[in-house]
Amino acid sequence: MSISKGLNIRTKIDLKEHSQIIKYTWDTFAQYAGFDCEYIDESPDIIIGGSENADIKISEIFLKNLSDKNYTHEDWFKEKPLLIAGDGQPDYLGTCFYMINCLQELGTEAKDKFGRFDYEISYQKKFDCVKENLVAGYFDKIIEGNKFLSSETGKITRKSKFFLSHDIDNIYGNTKLEAHHAAKCLNIGLLLQLMMNKILHNPTNLNINDILKLEDEYQVRSTFYWMVVRGKARDGMRNSDYNFNSSHIQKAVSLIKGRGLEIGLHKAISDTSYSEELKILKNDARSNRNHFLKINLPDSFAKMEEANIEMDCSLGFAQTYGFRNSYGLPYHPFDMDAEKPLKLLEVPLHIMDATFYYYLKTRPEKATIDILDFLEKNKENTVISLLFHNNFLTKYKFKDYLQMYKSVLEYIHDGGFETLTPTDLIENF
Ligand SMILES: [Zn+2]
Repeated sequence: MSISKGLNIRTKIDLKEHSQIIKYTWDTFAQYAGFDCEYIDESPDIIIGGSENADIKISEIFLKNLSDKNYTHEDWFKEKPLLIAGDGQPDYLGTCFYMINCLQELGTEAKDKFGRFDYEISYQKKFDCVKENLVAGYFDKIIEGNKFLSSETGKITRKSKFFLSHDIDNIYGNTKLEAHHAAKCLNIGLLLQLMMNKILHNPTNLNINDILKLEDEYQVRSTFYWMVVRGKARDGMRNSDYNFNSSHIQKAVSLIKGRGLEIGLHKAISDTSYSEELKILKNDARSNRNHFLKINLPDSFAKMEEANIEMDCSLGFAQTYGFRNSYGLPYHPFDMDAEKPLKLLEVPLHIMDATFYYYLKTRPEKATIDILDFLEKNKENTVISLLFHNNFLTKYKFKDYLQMYKSVLEYIHDGGFETLTPTDLIENF
């Protein structure tokens, strides 16, 4: 995605305060637009600054909010999700920094019942814009509004790529629920199978081989996230129901790695650190996703950085699908205290099976239409990240979700889209 056309744009940042933030945002924009940046003071192609003669004007309100550490979205966005300067002009670059880095989450203590940033109080909910890749749209406006840029870069239309993943929360499932399903469908064979599984303590939902076979059919690649902490967590949450070191699991992991695919850490809800859990994973895992998508910004990113995790893919709303940071591409979170970007790459999550089942309660057929519609709308300039849990891909209770996943794979395959591994992402962004 970070294809440079060999285009080098000389940029001058004509601002004293927050210049590191401006530089970071311009670098992020340059990656989107596909050019390299050289920062110079003499005869630049583009001047970014606060004065009238700047090519890209940064608003006073942006600089003031940053200096005041005021991240409350109500003070950034009034009528629409866009920062408007005192003279009525939009500050696109400032808006993009605020959105990409989830500053609204730093501006609130309010959390949902699981202790996560609550979609209900977000600007995405307020302006009904969670399904919009707003940042890409604003980046396009910056290009359109500048003659030099638009003649050099043209319109940005790069084919999207996909990141597919599976979090393995449980492998035994809820036999009672599944037996109830089998009984309701008068599926005696399935009922007997479930009873045998129960007696033999077979992991009914350890269907890694089935998932791999299915993905082979559609020529796509995926990544599997494993938990190393079992049992009850807190606030009504549970960790996994399996022992990562058991032979069942180790066989499944070998199967995945034997195909050149990667596994990652599914960080549990626990007091153990990322490093401690990575040690139990005994693996060359480069990436992480937090269980329940439970991340607190900026603390979680700081802890991942400390544990040398290279990539995270937790940044999504569990309550709805779409863009938690209004941007479609992976990015390096900006550390507001150290005033520099992290080494950690964040690959935001857009679509998760559980969102439709537990939160939106959409019928699977309708959810499939909604998902395909989202994919079609974002078939350019995005790394679309989807999560399907192993237990949603069995022939038991969630069998309609298996069909939903097949529809997604068909879309990817027929559209000729590329699927990426964590290593691909780390190397390309
Ligand atoms: Zn999980």
